Amino acid sequence: MTRRRVSSHRGGRTARPATSRPVPAAVSGPSARPRVGVLGLQGDFALHAAALVAVGCEPVRISLPEHLEGIEAMVLPGGESSTMLRLLDSTGLRAPLEAFVRTRPVLGTCAGLILLSREADRLPRPTFGAIDMAVERNGWGRQVHSFEDTIDAPTVARDLRGVFIRAPRIRRVGKGVEVFANYQGEPVGVRQGRVAAITFHPELTEDRRLHAWFVREVAGLIPAEAR
Ligand code: GLN
Repeated sequence: MTRRRVSSHRGGRTARPATSRPVPAAVSGPSARPRVGVLGLQGDFALHAAALVAVGCEPVRISLPEHLEGIEAMVLPGGESSTMLRLLDSTGLRAPLEAFVRTRPVLGTCAGLILLSREADRLPRPTFGAIDMAVERNGWGRQVHSFEDTIDAPTVARDLRGVFIRAPRIRRVGKGVEVFANYQGEPVGVRQGRVAAITFHPELTEDRRLHAWFVREVAGLIPAEAR
């Protein structure tokens, strides 16, 4: 198994695609792309948006409550969960986003997984509790706080690469939680109904299978190229 250290958050982003690429406008009728929101308060909007375009969706940056209108699913990206929780309060997004998470499909990655968890350590505000699990923030410690390796996620892809950046560690999962991805025998991808979360960053590789799996299998959406 090859294991590669990632020197820093920025260092892991060498494969960054063009972020200025225009996002296709919504078109009505059967060829319309499902509108998938990406929380855009802090953390990586652009790379998730590029991945969502590649899998046939229309990404929408969500930074105010009114942006949620007409959104069919959401991605909560990586970043800093404590900062995100503060910004959710100051923008007024917390309540509408929590309501969205209770009823609609959501994918959380890294800090996004922390927001969706039931229990997490050292945070200024409560998490959403959408997935019955306890997580330890920055759980891999200083020595290996960022690394890349192959993930065992048979329902998504056998050879998925996971980029872990100051990643949380899942310490407990409840009975109703399905573990769909493991790394070294530990859960790194979990799902409870319409809500899925992973401790790594799928947007930092060119591999779009995790986003495609979320859109089709978890959210039940039909992307543009499949119509
Ligand atoms: N360590 C961050 C946190 O606690 C998460 C890191 C990430 O999203 N890459 O929120």
